[in-house]
Formats: sequence, C-alpha cells, structure tokens
Amino acid sequence: MNVLIIGSGGREHALALALEKSSRLGQLFIAPGNAGSASVAETVALDASDHAAIVAFCKGEGIDLVVVGPEAPLVAGLADGLAAAGIACFGPSKAAARLEGSKGFAKDFCREFGVPTAAYERFRDSDAALAYLNAKGAPIVIKADGLAAGKGVVVAATLAEAEAAVRSMFAGAFGAAGAEVVIEDLLEGEEASFFALSDGERALAFASAQDHKRVGDGDKGPNTGGMGAYSPAPIMTEAMTARVMREIVEPTIAGMRKRGTPFRGVLFAGLMIGADGPKLIEYNVRFGDPEAEVVLARFEGDLLTLLNDCARGVAPSETLRFSNKAALTVVLAAKGYPGTPARGGEIRGLARAEAMADVIVHHCGTRREGGRILANGGRVLAVTALGGSVGEAQRRAYAAVDAIDWPDGFWRRDIGWRAVAHERARVATPPLSEGAAAESRRA
Ligand code: AMP
Repeated sequence: MNVLIIGSGGREHALALALEKSSRLGQLFIAPGNAGSASVAETVALDASDHAAIVAFCKGEGIDLVVVGPEAPLVAGLADGLAAAGIACFGPSKAAARLEGSKGFAKDFCREFGVPTAAYERFRDSDAALAYLNAKGAPIVIKADGLAAGKGVVVAATLAEAEAAVRSMFAGAFGAAGAEVVIEDLLEGEEASFFALSDGERALAFASAQDHKRVGDGDKGPNTGGMGAYSPAPIMTEAMTARVMREIVEPTIAGMRKRGTPFRGVLFAGLMIGADGPKLIEYNVRFGDPEAEVVLARFEGDLLTLLNDCARGVAPSETLRFSNKAALTVVLAAKGYPGTPARGGEIRGLARAEAMADVIVHHCGTRREGGRILANGGRVLAVTALGGSVGEAQRRAYAAVDAIDWPDGFWRRDIGWRAVAHERARVATPPLSEGAAAESRRA
C-alpha cells in the first residue's frame, strides 16, 4: 500500500516511523514533513489547504491511504475531498470533525447524547455573555468556539479576568473562531488524554497519555502546544479506561453514527478525572502532539492495517499490542517560544542521542541544509525514550537531551514529575504503572 501523511511535526514523524514497520507498506510520502521524517518518507511539497492538489498527487502516485496529522485540513473537509475521489483517508469528514472545529457543537452534542462534561452556555454577543458571567461568578472558563491553535481557552480565576477574555474574544482576538463563545464551569481533578480509534461503528480503546502544556518547570508560565508527555497516564487504570469507553467514547461514536456523520479516525478525549468520575474537557479529532510520540513509541502492532481498516469503515482486524514499558518525551523548543521563536540555529549531537538504547529523536520543526540540521519553528525536537517505569524513561530521555548540542534551544527539566512522584510513593509495588499494566493486559 502506498501512503501519504499530511503534516510537518513530531506527530507526523512518529506516524511515519510507526507506519514504516508494516510489511504491507509500499511507498511512504509525507507533505511537507521535516528533516527527520525525510529519512523515513519521501518529502512532497504539497499545501495541506490545497485539497485539489492533494487529490491529484494521490491519483498520480497511486496512493491507497492518506493519514492526516493536524486538525485544520480535517475541519476544512480534506477527508471529504479524498472520499469523493475514491481515496481512503484516516481522519474524519468535515461534519464529524466539528467535534473539534466547534466547541459549541461538541458541547451541544454531549448534552444530546449524555456525555458527562462541564455545564455551559453558548453566546454570540458580549452583553449576554457578560450577564451570564455576573450570574455565575469566578472561577470560570471562557472558550472561543472555533480553532485557535490551542490558544482560545481562558481559565479565569477572577470575574475581571473572565470579562476581559469575553471582551477580547468578541473584539476579534481569535478572528472568526471567536465570533461565538462558550462559557463553562471549571472542572477539578487530574487531566489525562485518551485516544480511541473508530471505523465509524466500533470504538477501540487505544492508549492514554499526560502532557505538560505550560512552558516552564513546575507547570508554570504561558500555555504552549505541549512541552512534553508520557504514556500511559497512571490515572487511566483498567477500570477508568472501561468507564471512559462506556460513558464518553461509545456514546459519542454511536451519536455521530445516529446523526448520519460517522466518525472515522482517532478520537482524542481531553479528560478531567474528578471525584465523581471522568468528564470530557474537549474533543480533538486527531492524535495530539507530543502525545503521538509517546503513544506510538509504545505501539507494537501493525499501525497501517489498523488505520486502513478504520478509514475504510471495516472492523479493525489488527489486534492492539503495546509495549508494557512507559514512554516519555521532552520537547526542545527555540528560545522565545511560545512567543516569536529564534530561527535557524544549528543542532549538533543528534546521532549521539539517536544511538542510545530505547531512544527516538522525533523532529518537529527542523530542516536540512547541506549536511547540517537547522531549527525551523517553535517546537523543534521531541526526544523520546522508553523505560521500565516513567522514571526510567525520564532518565533515558534526559540523557539523550543532554547529548544534543543546541545553544538556541531550551526545554523543561521536569517532564513526568507527577507520575515519577506517584511511582516513588509506591516503591513497594512493581515498577509498571497501573495504566501500562491495563494497556498491556488489554492488548
Ligand atoms: P482545551 O483546549 O479545551 O483542552 O483547553 C485547554 C486547557 O484548559 C485544558 O487542557 C485544561 O487544562 C483547561 N480547561 C479547559 N476547560 C476546562 C474546564 N472546564 N475546567 C478546567 N480546566 C479546563
């Protein structure tokens, strides 16, 4: 089978590495990819928003399956364009991608199909939104309805902060994405990311992860696209996974089918696990980045067969096999990120890091110039390692990070701290986290 991956980040490099392991793979292409993915897949200069050009390329090269990494092309209808041309796509249709493309749609959907989530209201004008805020008080959460590259959410501790967020969204801070605003109650508990695959009919529990969104150690400073992650999430025990499938994922897959917009692809549920059980914070309709790096590092099955079955709406024939090791990834970002990152510095020592046992250096924003690898973006590398515990994966990942010489970069030194503290508190028990045990048993 010939496969085209759409995207340019660490997630797409991880997808390329996992797909490459399948004995069914013919040619692997990636558009536009990066310097790391270029060693596994042929790089193609295609613009993800130019659906006609992607369809033409697929026809010309005999592509059997397109795997879409990021959300924007899915929300814009790339899967529909490919389907119309008879090309299978792993990633939902435009109608099903609204689960991520419109927070208001996702909340109304949860209400209709009984998916537990924070109480909320939708607003199209600022006066009504401000009146609601005054009635509810703080803390409270304000969200731009549309895609805002992860920046359209304000968790407001005070009413003044909440009012400022509402005013700035209606004043156009997020463009059309903020023309509608969702205001919802603050959820309390521990966050986890959960990934389920679906062929439109069935839902398959895939894996869990936890990420670190804040730029600085101790989870301080502004939000980013993600500075690191680990898998599995210790809080996603076998019992909690079963509950999330029953209460959140399965009603969603059934609801989408009932609406006539079956969901095919990976459903990424951002969860808050509180005292009264799991609640949905938000849906994404693709793998997370950097969560994909850790989840796919642990996956040992035939990803191509699995994604292809989901894309074609047939019951997945591939069984899920995961390493019972934990995976942890540390993101190396260019100084200045998440503001304007410095560009172009040379990165050395990559071969030394890659040669270490159980280490994968995922490229996010890099480009090759002659024999040199240069930084080319905000998040530049995701250095990933496996280990018998999150603590061991953390030690290996940081040993690899320390082998890399990149004066223009910075990274957090504490990725995985919560899970490592959890492991230390349970030294008397086996080194495997409960989540890893649950995932390997399920596999
Ligand atoms: P989202 O883009 O909806 O995932 O929101 C980004 C982050 O904001 C989440 O990862 C949470 O940390 C936080 N967040 C969003 N909604 C809520 C909520 N209702 N209660 C608490 N935290 C939230």
